[in-house]
Amino acid sequence: MDDLKFGSRNKRGDWAPAARLELPPFWRKPFSLPKVLAWIPEYLWPWNAFHMATALAWWVFVVPDVEVMRTLGWGWALWLYAVNAAAIFVFYGAVELFWYVKKKQGTRFKYNGKFPAEQPSDVFWFKSQNIDNFLRSFFVSIPLWTLVQVLFLHAFAAGYVPWLSWSDNWLWLGVLTLISPAIHEVHFFLIHRLIHVPILYKWVHSVHHNSVNPSPWSSLSMHPVEAFLYHAVAFWHLVIPSNPIVALFQLHVAGFGAVNGHIGFDKLELTEDRALDSHAYAHYLHHKYFEVNYGGDGLIPLDKWFGYWHDGSKEGEARMNARFQKKKARMNAKSGA
Ligand SMILES: [Zn+2]
Ligand SMILES: [Zn+2]
Repeated sequence: MDDLKFGSRNKRGDWAPAARLELPPFWRKPFSLPKVLAWIPEYLWPWNAFHMATALAWWVFVVPDVEVMRTLGWGWALWLYAVNAAAIFVFYGAVELFWYVKKKQGTRFKYNGKFPAEQPSDVFWFKSQNIDNFLRSFFVSIPLWTLVQVLFLHAFAAGYVPWLSWSDNWLWLGVLTLISPAIHEVHFFLIHRLIHVPILYKWVHSVHHNSVNPSPWSSLSMHPVEAFLYHAVAFWHLVIPSNPIVALFQLHVAGFGAVNGHIGFDKLELTEDRALDSHAYAHYLHHKYFEVNYGGDGLIPLDKWFGYWHDGSKEGEARMNARFQKKKARMNAKSGA
């Protein structure tokens, strides 16, 4: 595909989409029902449908019997870790293999013209972003993802929290499933904004931000504090009356869904004329400029409401720069006082 029909490339070889990022249509004025209806399939397919399918598959094939989960044990915890790790290895690894190792579409639709492997840096373990990100994902984040999973499954199985049945509560559970990505967005925005507070940024979040030019392995490359808080989004289903399958879906939106912001390509070309939208640009801009787009695509547009939203346009850039200037002036005034 010709990526220059969809955007432009600068002298450094970085590509940017021509279209600005848009909030979901129900946040836009004037309200248009046809646009909202057209948005629904895009909301579900393919990413959320994929997370729903994996949540169901885990429930049917992976998660142990309720009897087993009534007591905490290493056996079933390690089993869950093994499956989670294998799934991420295959899923993230496939994107990494075809788009970053084999480079099947070169740098077409790639925001940053360079590949991480071309840029060794001292900030990474073994000076390699790929090795660093890979090790942190498998030995820090996925174990903590599994810890969250074990704790909420145990809480349901042991009867510490209500376990709503689908037959009696299908409408509520259906609604809860549909708004789970919105719960994710609010939870992620809050913890993410929190770890951008300077002291926490330095201690915790800088690990994730070492990857200025993210690739799939960067998605879960996190400090343990961040990795735990990030996956703890599933604990909302211990507070809100829910069901373990919905909680699993919530967890998968976080764990598997983390890749979306870090794919590095705007579109993944599948065939000559078909491509998959990655939904990566908002979070790519976050990795590039740090203090913009703390949430996701704006399902709940907290970034917009707090003035952090960068939609990729020139105006978005100007708004961001004006905000940075103001912040600098404030800091200078403080240090001069
Ligand atoms: Zn990120
Ligand atoms: Zn951040």
